[in-house]
Amino acid sequence: MADVCNYDILKNEKYGRYLVANKDLDCGELIFTDTPIAVGPKPDTPPLCLGCYCPVESTLCSRCGWPICGSECEKSPHHLPECDVFSQAIKVRFQPVDDWTASSPQLDCITPLRLFLAKEKDPERWNRDVAIMETHTEERKKRPAWEADQNNIVNYLIDRCKLGDRCSRELLTQICGILEVNAVEIPSRGGFSIRAVYPRLAIAAHSCVPNIVHSIFQNDYQVQIRAAIPIKTGELLHMSYTHVLSPTIVRREHLLESKFFCCDCPRCADPTELGTHLSTLKCTKCDNGVILSSNPLDSDASWNCTDKKCEFKTSGAAMRKMLGVVQAELDQLDALEPGPQAIEMREATLHKYKSVFHPSHAILLSIKHALAQLYGRVEEYSIDELPDLVLERKAEFCRLVLKTLDVISPGDSRMRGMMLYELHAPLMYLARSEFSAGLITQDKLKDRLQEPIQCLSEAARILRREDPISPEGITGNIAYQSMEQLKASLESL
Ligand SMILES: [Zn+2]
Ligand SMILES: [Zn+2]
Ligand SMILES: [Zn+2]
Ligand SMILES: [Zn+2]
Repeated sequence: MADVCNYDILKNEKYGRYLVANKDLDCGELIFTDTPIAVGPKPDTPPLCLGCYCPVESTLCSRCGWPICGSECEKSPHHLPECDVFSQAIKVRFQPVDDWTASSPQLDCITPLRLFLAKEKDPERWNRDVAIMETHTEERKKRPAWEADQNNIVNYLIDRCKLGDRCSRELLTQICGILEVNAVEIPSRGGFSIRAVYPRLAIAAHSCVPNIVHSIFQNDYQVQIRAAIPIKTGELLHMSYTHVLSPTIVRREHLLESKFFCCDCPRCADPTELGTHLSTLKCTKCDNGVILSSNPLDSDASWNCTDKKCEFKTSGAAMRKMLGVVQAELDQLDALEPGPQAIEMREATLHKYKSVFHPSHAILLSIKHALAQLYGRVEEYSIDELPDLVLERKAEFCRLVLKTLDVISPGDSRMRGMMLYELHAPLMYLARSEFSAGLITQDKLKDRLQEPIQCLSEAARILRREDPISPEGITGNIAYQSMEQLKASLESL
């Protein structure tokens, strides 16, 4: 692919370096592509293959003794450079672990080592793109992870791996900072979560209402950055460095923790999150008001009822604690295998919290988002055996997520594409079921099937930009074929 460059790099006090569009961009237009300077395990991951990043159990590289799934991956270009380092240094083999599924700090040195080896290999790229990256050294020194990084990474590579004559402690400390501040989480070929540093993507400023999206391609982990909505010349390019479907308190905490800044974007500054109510609670004292933060840019600010006569009040600390407890329940739900139980337990959790949270609150919305994908896809709940009421429920959840995305992640995004694909099925089945029950005429049926066709067409347009071997890319191609079939079946009616 030809290298496209539809952006300029500018600099200011607030963002440091940032990107602006240097031409008017259409929705979905490619802005640039970027290749990672280093890819590797995230901190604290369980042992995984250093070639393909799949989980491994007790299989080690025959040369260096570090986790590798088989002989193919021993020769992986990702692994070979560090394999040389480990096999040359005496006794720096991977230490056997009891539990191969538990996180192991031993692998924490891998990605920093790879970033260092990338510097040795291409010092020019390093000086141009990487050396100037933000490291937030002073803030990081105050954190507990600092000490661990010094031990598990800096000392380990210098003392045990004998890299002292090739690099300094200062450089390795800088590398740790570059990774912590700039690396993004990406899926590996097998769908496991790893991290990568993309020099140009790292310059894009954050917003909780992003206007660009990025797609990872498994071939060399190349990333494509596209406009999610039409963008005018000179406008800032914003991506989201946090999960868009999370409430303000959680997003801001995550951004402060991982990116070292306090987000004050319009969404964060608005107690209603731009009217989406992703942070809104129901009032337990009255029926007239809802509970909102008195100042969302201050996580200690009190939360009050919007009804002036209502006395309800709670502290920011109490709110954070409550969200933490409920989030832990959600994490347990997310760990369930897709199946009937995954549906039933989520429905029970929705019921349990429906008098606490606004129906669009991020907690309930993420459960609804999961249910929208589970209904019609797991045993006992396959799409052709869902009663109309449940089809309607699936459609309602899809529409609620889509309506929220219109505000907080407008335009083309993977999540929108996937939700549109999910929405087409209940719409199609409901229309057919009403037709076969004699409730609607054939003309009306043709009319009703226009919406699922529209959903499939939009899903295909968005998702076919993804890597064709990724789950989203596969869904994009299925959406396209289903659309063609549905159109053909309409014509033969
Ligand atoms: Zn492998
Ligand atoms: Zn090896
Ligand atoms: Zn924000
Ligand atoms: Zn109230």
